[in-house]
Amino acid sequence: MAVVLRAVLTCPDCGAQTEEAMPTDACRIQYECLSCGFVLRPRPGDDCVFCSFADTPCPPVQEARAREQAGTRE
Ligand SMILES: [Zn+2]
Repeated sequence: MAVVLRAVLTCPDCGAQTEEAMPTDACRIQYECLSCGFVLRPRPGDDCVFCSFADTPCPPVQEARAREQAGTRE
């Protein structure tokens, strides 16, 4: 499966959208908006800012979801 390594983060404060590369081996728990300086933190239940605020979940979550889908089909 293809893991997407870039995601567009949307700032909840000013609405600015920024494309960022996602690390494959770590969860990003903090991200400062380049536009307004607002510090994004994961929502409760999410483990990284990409899962909470980006259009694409982080790579470990993508892999977990792919495994879940594969498992339910079998
Ligand atoms: Zn912002």
